Amino acid sequence: MRDLKALPKAHLHLHFTGSMRHSTLLELAARDRIHLPDALAEDWPPQLTAADEKGWFRFQRLYDVARSVLRTEADVRRLVLEAAEDDVADGGRWLEIQVDPSGYAARFGGITAFTDLVLDAVRDASARTGLGIAVIIAANRTRHPLDARTLARLASQYVDRGVVGFGLSNDERRGRTADFAGAFSIAERAGLLLAPHGGELRGPEHIRLCLDALHAGRLGHGVRAAEDADLLARIVDAGVALEVCPVSNVALGVYSDLTSVPLPTLLEAGATVALGADDPLLFGSRLAGQYATMRAAHELTDDQLAELARMSFRASRAPKDVVDAGLVEIERWLDQAPA
Ligand SMILES: [Zn+2]
Repeated sequence: MRDLKALPKAHLHLHFTGSMRHSTLLELAARDRIHLPDALAEDWPPQLTAADEKGWFRFQRLYDVARSVLRTEADVRRLVLEAAEDDVADGGRWLEIQVDPSGYAARFGGITAFTDLVLDAVRDASARTGLGIAVIIAANRTRHPLDARTLARLASQYVDRGVVGFGLSNDERRGRTADFAGAFSIAERAGLLLAPHGGELRGPEHIRLCLDALHAGRLGHGVRAAEDADLLARIVDAGVALEVCPVSNVALGVYSDLTSVPLPTLLEAGATVALGADDPLLFGSRLAGQYATMRAAHELTDDQLAELARMSFRASRAPKDVVDAGLVEIERWLDQAPA
């Protein structure tokens, strides 16, 4: 078996707040005397479920605590740099990090100032680590659709300045997806990748809505397309990539265990899948961990793992030279004798 940390990858599903190192959370909380719930301190990583509203509320509450420890510009820069370092250590060559600026607007002088800060932190982290990084601006589906339009306009202003996509996150069961069509059409006109969350906490019917109403070009999760062969065929034909986050799925109770994550069904149908970590801070597993758990759960061969890595580059918005270099390096990884 070859070392999965040495397999070059593009990481397409990672949230800004959720990418924080646990050790950094502890350090920043201690600095500002912020009380952490046990689930983020001695009992980390938390036992989560999203089976009901209460479960998701608890997940969201932990997320809010994590957000609250980021208080200075230096904290933001540190988070981005460490996320980049951790991806590089896991074989990452390209990262598309997803951020909802509205959650930080109050503390950092508004959504535009915060976006400027994140983009500057991204440029700096990229220069220091060699990791290519781009940003996806994500709206929150539990907020008003007009807020999403504002964020879509903001994202549109940053096309070619580090923002490559527009997303929609938070509890998939809340809010009306069709109400966000206006925001997505603003992003679409700007040429941004459209990557809403869909097909994790809800099934195929919601994936259809993301395709029809939002014109999704890539799906955050989308893993439950496996439940509907016709839908899966449509996704394959349309070339819509699925950002599958296996450890997140199991942590939130979408599947009972890693062997139940239907990755083989997706791959057999010819779907483009890019594995992602989602929120390492809450799920306790980073980029290479996703490949390792799927290798163990589904007895994937190194050829299959290499193909997953290739797909992550092909589904990315990385510049052509980054994609080409990644693909060449993946061949080199395969050429090495397994340990
Ligand atoms: Zn996500």
